[in-house]
Amino acid sequence: MAQHPNYGRIDGRLVMIGYGSIGRGTLPLIERHFDVAREQMMVIEPSAEGQALLAERGIPHLGVAITRENYREVLTELLKDGGFCVNLSVDTSSLDILRLCRELGALYIDTVVEPWAGFYFETPDNAARTNYALRQKVRDEKVANPGGPTAVSCCGANPGMVSWFVKEALLQLASDTGTPVAAPTDRAGWAKLMQSLGVKGVHIAERDTQARATPRPRGTFVNTWSVEGFIAEGFQPAELGWGTHEPWMPDNAHGYDKGCQAAIWLERPGAITRVHSWCPTPGPQFGFLVTHNEAVSISDYYTVGDPAAPEFRPTCHYAYHPCDDAVLSLHEMFGSGVTQGIHEILSPGEIVEGVDELGVLLFGHEKNALWYGSRLSNAEARQLAPDQNATGLQVTSAVLAGMVWALENPAAGIVETDEMDHARCLEVQRPYLGPVEAHYTDWTPIQNRWEHFPEDIDPAEPWAFRNVLAS
Ligand code: NAD
Repeated sequence: MAQHPNYGRIDGRLVMIGYGSIGRGTLPLIERHFDVAREQMMVIEPSAEGQALLAERGIPHLGVAITRENYREVLTELLKDGGFCVNLSVDTSSLDILRLCRELGALYIDTVVEPWAGFYFETPDNAARTNYALRQKVRDEKVANPGGPTAVSCCGANPGMVSWFVKEALLQLASDTGTPVAAPTDRAGWAKLMQSLGVKGVHIAERDTQARATPRPRGTFVNTWSVEGFIAEGFQPAELGWGTHEPWMPDNAHGYDKGCQAAIWLERPGAITRVHSWCPTPGPQFGFLVTHNEAVSISDYYTVGDPAAPEFRPTCHYAYHPCDDAVLSLHEMFGSGVTQGIHEILSPGEIVEGVDELGVLLFGHEKNALWYGSRLSNAEARQLAPDQNATGLQVTSAVLAGMVWALENPAAGIVETDEMDHARCLEVQRPYLGPVEAHYTDWTPIQNRWEHFPEDIDPAEPWAFRNVLAS
């Protein structure tokens, strides 16, 4: 039997909120790697399906939905003596729950800055529906209440693990260009390193090829992780960290004059905004510019100089090619204007082929572009851990790494993954990531275009967003 490292004891309650695809994958990893008794656990899950699975496994659970009205009462009762809150739900406010946990002296982790139910579709102002706005509130809370119990914000695969990959990729690039360096020890050092290497930007470049044997039924949204989560973020405006090398900005773009000012957003849903990008398996491909926290956090973290007029800042955004069934689901949903009534997450057992190739593409430097990431297949994921596909394991192993870091650094205050020890986190996570590889490419966004329909591209700056954004 495989020996799994033990990362120590969790004191007090372990409260997990949400037992969906990510919760179901995370719980076995927690049981595997920490000393925590079943009696210490409480999983809060409103769905009958999730509760039945928990009952089957003998896991203590509470069948309630956490709301703005009940979260204080429910969570205070559970965490009044401290403990660890692992928030893997949708429709619960990360900020409110994080604040309460810190008040109670409990550790906290989530994988996204989630708002209360209704926010994504009932907020009329598009600027207020951005991840920039959601993230900025967490950053403001960090400034208002520095230090204190550790709360790890946005520690999944992306946002999350990809921030650790950016650092590994920078060290690799430094070494491959003949200037090996020791890992910088602070934010300014990392930002200077990226600047000195000539990196202009970063795509979070993903290709998910996981598929099942049967074709997608019409009227069904199929994905490899939360359908609800994907639809919600897909309908948010496209957003990206805005780099200092960009010579042009789209007409439908808006910037900010408050907060970190590292990003812009577009008057268009991310899930129908296509970008040219690159991953090792397909080579050049279209991805969707779906908004994500890391697009803002990475551009913010690597800013050199005054945030309002920086000397250097990388462009950063997601370029996501979800599994083919999800692409068809988006096509159907946006074409009809109707959200499908049936939602399905591909389970590890029904997937017959495919890899989730998720990495960071650092571009614009001396060696053109470097993709660094995980190429985990569903088949390998099934060998490594129970109850999750490749996409899930990339997320849950990041949650595991974030929990280990929080236990080892219990008074670090509110942190994002850019601010954590990336080497320690990847040390914990790497056994679950399948092949983690670096690939250089000489492809740029002005190659592989259709010359019969000439496009308005900027040949002087191949990596300009003007060329990345598909017309
Ligand atoms: P899911 O839809 O499979 O599960 C969400 C669970 O939350 C469901 O079981 C649902 O019943 C429960 N839930 C809904 N409302 C609730 C409430 N009010 N209180 C408590 N529980 C509630 O989603 P998933 O794939 O497990 O994803 C979970 C979260 O993780 C989502 O927010 C998603 O965006 C995020 N996520 C992050 C990453 C990343 O890499 N950072 C990747 C995948 C998912």
